[in-house]
Amino acid sequence: MFCSKCAAKIPDGSIFCPECGQKLTADNAQQVPVRQQPLYTQPPVQQTRVSAPVQPAYDPQSAPLSTGNFFWMPVLIGIPVIGFIVLLVWAFSKDTNLNRKHYARAALIWLLISLILVVIVTVAGGGFLRSLQDAIGVS
Ligand SMILES: [Zn+2]
Repeated sequence: MFCSKCAAKIPDGSIFCPECGQKLTADNAQQVPVRQQPLYTQPPVQQTRVSAPVQPAYDPQSAPLSTGNFFWMPVLIGIPVIGFIVLLVWAFSKDTNLNRKHYARAALIWLLISLILVVIVTVAGGGFLRSLQDAIGVS
């Protein structure tokens, strides 16, 4: 005879199916046709599998940052020494969110630009002061 639940072939007169543990009476094991149950239950399972939307795996590295994240980033960066360290960590650590990493790199470029500007202004301003000193005659 065959199991009424999983349709496994089992010895005649079994009380329980050795495959799935289904309790069997002589009646329901023989009355339910063997092939009918698998054929009936399989199509809906396949249908839900096909129609289920393919969800891309959630990747924290490429997931968009929230407004709150963007709101606090300049504040954190604005803290004098800690902000610079935070920028370096964000810009060069491997597992930082990509949005945050690119933002940190852009901020570092601005930092570099302003550093160069400060150097240029200081050098030019220093030269100007020296020429002023020469003109006045202060040594
Ligand atoms: Zn069974």
